Amino acid sequence: MVDYSGKISYRSQSLRPSEIREILTLTEGKSIISLAGGLPGPEVFPKQQLAGIAKRVLEDLGDSALQYSPTLGVTPFRNSVASFALSKGIKVNEDDRVAVTTGSQEAIYLIGLSLIDPGDNIIVEAPTYLAALNAFRFFGANFISIPLDEDGMKVEMIEKEIKKAKDSGKKIKAIYTVATSHNPTGVIMSDDRRKQLIEIANKYDILIIEDDPYGFFVFDTDKRFTSLKTLDTEGRVIYMGTFSKILAPGLRLGYIIANKSITDAIESMITITAINPSTLSQYIAMYAIKEGVVDETIENARKVYRKKRDVLLESLEEYMPSGSEWYKPKGGLFAFVYLPKEVDTSEMLPKAIERGVAYVPGRNFFADGSGSNAMRVNFSYPSVDKLKEGIKIIGETAKETIK
Ligand SMILES: *Cc1c(COP(=O)(O)O)cnc(C)c1O
Repeated sequence: MVDYSGKISYRSQSLRPSEIREILTLTEGKSIISLAGGLPGPEVFPKQQLAGIAKRVLEDLGDSALQYSPTLGVTPFRNSVASFALSKGIKVNEDDRVAVTTGSQEAIYLIGLSLIDPGDNIIVEAPTYLAALNAFRFFGANFISIPLDEDGMKVEMIEKEIKKAKDSGKKIKAIYTVATSHNPTGVIMSDDRRKQLIEIANKYDILIIEDDPYGFFVFDTDKRFTSLKTLDTEGRVIYMGTFSKILAPGLRLGYIIANKSITDAIESMITITAINPSTLSQYIAMYAIKEGVVDETIENARKVYRKKRDVLLESLEEYMPSGSEWYKPKGGLFAFVYLPKEVDTSEMLPKAIERGVAYVPGRNFFADGSGSNAMRVNFSYPSVDKLKEGIKIIGETAKETIK
């Protein structure tokens, strides 16, 4: 048999196996309540409407919908993404282009590939989206972690960190942020901080990567928070959106709206990876936008998730050990819970899984290795009953760990 130990590339070995992937392997085939993933609730998928649309797309456009297509997306879909974004208040500049990607995870990867040289620094929220940390780390990025509170990233701390980094000769490439309905905490960056963030980025000539999967999922107000992309006056915000949370992740459709220099770089990358994002998915999403299915799904999902968020908060109050703390998620799909200091959530995970529930240990969301007593729980995917039961089990397991 071949010995593969000397054959797997150094680069691919540098990717640490993801704790989530391992959890999913552990839970496969078992009836585990998973609060670990970031899955939409299947009850919000517009299955009927999409069945109709898929049929019509194939009837109307079959020859092109089943064909290879342009690298950055088919033109009518790119146009409809641009007008969709505009209709939601996201500014598209004249020298911006839309690049359609295979989910926004691929967008994160492509942006990392296009921007990051080994040793470059990226400013991130602490905690932040773990798959962005992993992708940027893969390209050799170092991180500058900025804590957050109920109003998002503590932007007032950034300038000091930038000066410190510059004094020691470090290069800062970008600030990566999930400003609205943050993953994993559900907090929303305040308007003041958004303005400050743009000012700092301008002053120090740093790019901003705005990852916005949840801009539409704000629960307690109809106010729409102004995107960083819209506040930007210098073309330094790279905006990422996705159809995963507002339509269906199975379509694997995300998009970047950014200066042409960025999308040009990305275009060359896609020619050596996917060739083009799924043509069929693009036409399906295009019809779904045009026929109002996307807007309906957003409104429906927002209601469903708000209800589940409330159930989660009640369950946390009822079952978590005293001394636990969490942010009230103002939007998104997750809550981030801090257990009492003595609990190590990575060590506790196998016990929780044994009792039938999975979550993601908090450490994964920090570039600096903190968060050992934290965990991320998802509330969009499980049913209300499973959600309550899951939190109850986590609470019991935690209480036992403390004893
Ligand atoms: C879900 C999510 C994404 C990407 O999902 P795709 O399915 O790849 O579009 C990106 N960023 C954050 C913060 C997310 O939560």
